[in-house]
Amino acid sequence: MARIRLGLVGIGKIARDQHLPALAANPDYDLVAVASRQPNPVEGVPSVTDTADLLSDYPDIHAVSFCTPPVGRYDQARRALEAGRHVMLEKPPGATVAEVERLADLARSKGVTLFATWHSREAAAVAPARGWLADKSIRSVSVVWKEDVRRWHPGQDWIWEPGGLGVFDPGINALSILTAILPEAAILEAADLSYPSNRAAPIAADLSFRTGSGAAVTAAFDWRQTGRQIWEITVATDQGTLLLSEGGGKLSIDGIAQVDVADEALSGEYPNLYRRFADLIRSGRSDIDLEPFRHVADAFMLGRRVTVESFED
Ligand code: NAP
Repeated sequence: MARIRLGLVGIGKIARDQHLPALAANPDYDLVAVASRQPNPVEGVPSVTDTADLLSDYPDIHAVSFCTPPVGRYDQARRALEAGRHVMLEKPPGATVAEVERLADLARSKGVTLFATWHSREAAAVAPARGWLADKSIRSVSVVWKEDVRRWHPGQDWIWEPGGLGVFDPGINALSILTAILPEAAILEAADLSYPSNRAAPIAADLSFRTGSGAAVTAAFDWRQTGRQIWEITVATDQGTLLLSEGGGKLSIDGIAQVDVADEALSGEYPNLYRRFADLIRSGRSDIDLEPFRHVADAFMLGRRVTVESFED
């Protein structure tokens, strides 16, 4: 197949940090145009103001990749799928589970590819962790995902609004890794969600799950972390303890390093996603795994709301 002619929607932090460099380095793609509320946000690439104009002004594009916030993405992605374009979605794939299920149905009926991405699953140590855990019995799991929201999401107002997910925006990355590496599924049993008194989304969350065989899984997400940033998953098994750290870039078993490529892992995530999107398009398949998103929805359904100190950016 010829190069994939692609339109990119939403030129914010992740589009600039990761999508544009990954596309520039991948000969499978031609970045034909971007859709943005800013005038000419990417030098040398034509721009239009929204998805509708992207589809009408560039009728020969094959695919559209969305880097907008989750709320509002459904209408745009639906439009692209209805127009017969392949679609790639940033995580989280939408604002509600039903939205993404409808998109999956639409992609199927149109015979086009829908790729709901989970970039953290592409980190270098995730596949080795899954391989090591495959034949182990899980005793317990502890997820600790603590970062400084002021450092990673400065001025992003949408993230504090309903549907912005608050601390689940990074927390869903942990859940995407967890659901990829554990050999058995877990179900949420309890959650405490801490909402700043002036915000509509949680700044911290403590979750308790149980796996099918009865192992306890806890997850602590917190956006108030200063100093050392922690993105760790510890899995105690019948044959030793696995530690996945640096967001999936580092792996050790019983304290012995197995993989340690944190920086490379980060830079490899988006090139891997675009390689996979091209493979999916060429083989006529979709990839939509809603398990991490379902856990977040369950946390909002089951979670006990706790009001905490107000938060100013
Ligand atoms: P961002 O910096 O706020 O950028 C989002 C962009 O979407 C904006 O620049 C804007 O682009 C467009 N947009 C359209 N409607 C908008 C609205 N109502 N409010 C705000 N922006 C709107 O956000 P981001 O960090 O890039 O995150 C975008 C998505 O990528 C989210 O789903 C996030 O979870 C995911 N993600 C982010 C990171 C990260 O490190 N930041 C990492 C991985 C994944 P125009 O100005 O061009 O219209």
